[in-house]
Amino acid sequence: MRVNLLNLDRSGLADFLTGIGEKPFRAGPLLRWMHLFGERDFSRMTDLSKALREKLPELAEIRPPELVSEEVSDDGTRKWLLEVGGGNRIETVFIPEDDRGTLCVSSQVGCTLACTFCSTGRQGFNRNLTSAEIVGQLWWANRALGRNPRGERIISNVVLMGMGEPLLNLDSVLPALRVMLDDFGYGLSRRRVTLSTSGLVPQLERLREACPVALAVSLHAPNDALRDRIVPINRKYPLAELLEACRRYIASAPRDYVTFEYVMLRGVNDTAAHARELLDLVRDVPCKFNLIPFNPFPDAGYERSTPTDIARFRDILAQAGLVVTVRKTRGDDISAACGQLAGEVVDRTRRSERLAAMSERGGG
Ligand code: SAH
Ligand code: SF4
Repeated sequence: MRVNLLNLDRSGLADFLTGIGEKPFRAGPLLRWMHLFGERDFSRMTDLSKALREKLPELAEIRPPELVSEEVSDDGTRKWLLEVGGGNRIETVFIPEDDRGTLCVSSQVGCTLACTFCSTGRQGFNRNLTSAEIVGQLWWANRALGRNPRGERIISNVVLMGMGEPLLNLDSVLPALRVMLDDFGYGLSRRRVTLSTSGLVPQLERLREACPVALAVSLHAPNDALRDRIVPINRKYPLAELLEACRRYIASAPRDYVTFEYVMLRGVNDTAAHARELLDLVRDVPCKFNLIPFNPFPDAGYERSTPTDIARFRDILAQAGLVVTVRKTRGDDISAACGQLAGEVVDRTRRSERLAAMSERGGG
């Protein structure tokens, strides 16, 4: 079988080249062709030796996931649907803003963690994505979007906030991150690549050691009793342990704070008392808050907090000196908002079946 070079970071490519009797330093030019220029055809990589150009097609390929469709929302948000085999489809979303362009990337087909307010979590889990499938999302988006008139890439930031829990797929996520950071890959700084996690403590330590990038943690509740209910992984890694891991992470991270994400669920976690409890909880952790108005999906069983409640919550945190942003809801019309990414998951965990017994199956 031919090796899919999109799975390899620079050192992986160097090993591959050595293995076929070539010079490892060709890894740089190869990366640049594949990622910077989005080239798939080895014969067009004109600065590689002719012998290498002829040898590569027999041994290797550059194969991103298959593109199924691309949608553009009224507000400029774009969504790509990609086929990853076996009836599974994943979604990637681009969100343009005045000063940056952010690509939201998926790391798994579905998710095993079953947060109760998350459409991906409702759909169950099929498998981890490969590095090629993770980087392949950026590959497609970069190819579609290209550069602005000043020659800068349109994609200035990447967030691992699509489908799946990236810390449960670190073996594939790490090489993908390295390609994003590589100057011959996507040339993003560590501060502009953010991994979002629901809070797996040992894996956070591994990320810190292997490839620290900016960190977002899905907090969503100010105490263990409530968090146990809505983010079930909390039963394994409760808040005290998670916050301690965040403090350790910051010591090696490219940013000197953690972003805490907090989904605003009406009447569940959005009262003034919750906000005050939250202030107490994060007192010793340098952090910013990103409040995410809940994005509904069919049979979610939750409602979005009212604008008044969100503003009150925000003000309590801000008055205590925290930096708080409220996430704008983007791409609603194409179901591209946070937590609405559904893709198509051929569930192997039977969660969707079990849930369907209770209510109709959810989906973005
Ligand atoms: N598994 C990771 C990353 C993917 S989810 C994590 O949980 O952090 C990205 C963010 O979207 C998380 O903060 C998640 O809690 C949030 N989210 C999930 N479902 C949502 C919904 N229906 N509305 C708003 N935000 C949601
Ligand atoms: Fe998985 Fe994140 Fe959704 Fe929780 S919020 S189910 S961890 S994707």
